[in-house]
Amino acid sequence: MSANKSYKTTCSYCGVGCGIIVNKDNNGTLKVTGDTEHPVNKGMLCSKGMNLHYVAQDTTDRILYPEMKWSKNHPLKRVSWDTAFERAAAVFKSIIKKHGPDSVGFYVSGQCLTEEYYLVNKLTKGFIGTNNIDTNSRLCMSSAVVGYKKALGEDSVPIAYADIELADTFLITGANPAWCHPILYRRLEAHKEANPDTKFIVVDPRKTQTAAIADLHLQIQQGTDVILNNAIVRELIETDKIDLDFILNHTNNFEDVKKQVFETSLEEAAKICDIPADEIKLAAKYIGNSKGLISMWTMGLNQSIIGVDKNVSLLNISLVTGQIGKPGSGPFSLTGQPNAMGGREVGGMANLLAVHKDLNNPEHRKEVSDFWGSNPINPKPGYTATKMFDALDKGDLKAIWIICTNPVVSLPNSNKIERALKKAKFVVVQDISHNAETTKFADLLLPAAGWLEKEGTMSNSERRISYLEKGIEPPAEALPDAEILWRFAQAMNYRGFDYNNTEEVYQEYCRMTKGTNIDISGLSYQKLKELGTVQWPFPNEDSQGTSRLFTDKKFYTPDGKANFNVPQHIYNQSEQPTEEFPLILNTGRIRDQWHTRTKTGKVKRLLTHIDGPYVEIHPDDAKERNIEEGTIVVVKNNRGTTRVKAVINKDIRKGAIFMPMHFGKISDNDFGRANNLTNELIDPISSEPDFKHAVAQVTKF
Ligand code: SF4
Repeated sequence: MSANKSYKTTCSYCGVGCGIIVNKDNNGTLKVTGDTEHPVNKGMLCSKGMNLHYVAQDTTDRILYPEMKWSKNHPLKRVSWDTAFERAAAVFKSIIKKHGPDSVGFYVSGQCLTEEYYLVNKLTKGFIGTNNIDTNSRLCMSSAVVGYKKALGEDSVPIAYADIELADTFLITGANPAWCHPILYRRLEAHKEANPDTKFIVVDPRKTQTAAIADLHLQIQQGTDVILNNAIVRELIETDKIDLDFILNHTNNFEDVKKQVFETSLEEAAKICDIPADEIKLAAKYIGNSKGLISMWTMGLNQSIIGVDKNVSLLNISLVTGQIGKPGSGPFSLTGQPNAMGGREVGGMANLLAVHKDLNNPEHRKEVSDFWGSNPINPKPGYTATKMFDALDKGDLKAIWIICTNPVVSLPNSNKIERALKKAKFVVVQDISHNAETTKFADLLLPAAGWLEKEGTMSNSERRISYLEKGIEPPAEALPDAEILWRFAQAMNYRGFDYNNTEEVYQEYCRMTKGTNIDISGLSYQKLKELGTVQWPFPNEDSQGTSRLFTDKKFYTPDGKANFNVPQHIYNQSEQPTEEFPLILNTGRIRDQWHTRTKTGKVKRLLTHIDGPYVEIHPDDAKERNIEEGTIVVVKNNRGTTRVKAVINKDIRKGAIFMPMHFGKISDNDFGRANNLTNELIDPISSEPDFKHAVAQVTKF
């Protein structure tokens, strides 16, 4: 970008994927504004997006040069890129030779660009010979991925944001878009304002900001989502509000689900969920009378030991009412990160392959390795996010390469993550900021280019691909993540990594999608620049993108029918409160912070909304403990403790507490790191952690 120029790009925070116009004046000063022509945000930006230029301009915390420890006991010292690659390749080769390819792993991020995600998968699965490549998207989306695959045949979000304005009923469950997807929420608010009869059902144990829009807020007991969803399906069947034609002609397994939902009466379900039965009836009435139903969900459903069960039970509601593949209807999983979907498209998880191919399918493995000209792909799934750190802790994994994520703050049971990283033989951290706590564990620290400093593509929550232009030079010796990866692959002497630029990586990936359900073989960088953003599939140059899937009622399953799925567990399997730890800790996002604050933490004005970590507690629980507003308290359980100030809030259920997930170990006093307390339970199918349900006690400090 030359001086005094404006250009279009996409916000690098949440999965809404808002369009941004960046202006750089003659002095090099950046300014961002919302792109009024962008189909997602129509000019609006939330507080985080609005302040992105501060983050891009402030380089005070940036990692500027490769730094390396010559041995574990030595400090990090500046080295050249050549030395960094030589050392990384030598250590990886030696560990692989001695312990096999499964002794190394990569842990990456939903903030990586699609090209970066593609490359690290090709490198790991195709050439190193292990599937130990997983991502922090495991922490937010993996239960939704499994749910979609089970119900629809592939991990495919069926609808678009444009469906919002066509819907008359919304079921928002386990999500707080008012804070976590603010521009999406503003579209919901505007739709309600223009169409006051539109019904909003919000399901959340907390009365969050999102509940402000609700015609009906179901403040259920934590972990009872499957019971509630099943009760809604039962009530829809009993009141004859189901789409029998759709069920008979386009779905499988309805009778099995029907059998399960009738095993629990409405009254029993209401008692377990701890809400009035009439509220469940009313929810079913709104849904049953709807001409366009959209369900929206995020971590409240996904981050659970029964996350997949919660997802399939919700998807059953869309199927039983036939609310999919038509305007203003469909199940809409809201992505947390800007490119979690792009990562899944290229197979960025330990149990996936690129272009939605299956790791456990020998033909698919062969197709992928033939395309890459690589070694045969190992059929054994790799370590998923938490298991990767378990393996480090046990000594089974010797080396880990961490890209664009800060697991010391973001993974459950943080103290164990620190212990595991200390035990690792070799830790590579590739990041932009010294403020990421994980950098302290690096044996090799690699400076990456950030937002605006490199080109590539991302896919938002609605399958919308956007091209991000390089606008400014990265500071000092920082390099684009894609280049770091292909240069490391070259240092390992792997064939097929002789790229000259990121566009060549993208073109290779586009060729790989040809003929698949996510075909974007017609979508070049040039086309993206011409059209702006588009939704996949985009199979040829004349395509305009695809806003809605399954309009022909043909799903991606072998027989073309959608599947009802019977949840394996209807009752929560999380930790149960005890006398010692009687409270249930829920963790989540706050409005103005992002992940572990390596970016938003640099912007002072983003602390005006909420200025630091806290624990939210019900007034009755606070009174019992002699806690007042602002009292410094200790939150503890068997895994750890943390000190925070108390915020007394009647909008949280009695017996529950809430802490934001963003704050790290600010000092040795461990002020505010919620993940000191979160547990290590994971969903047995999706491997997504149970972040929302750890037992704890709160006492005055
Ligand atoms: Fe960025 Fe999400 Fe805010 Fe849009 S809603 S400006 S994508 S953080």
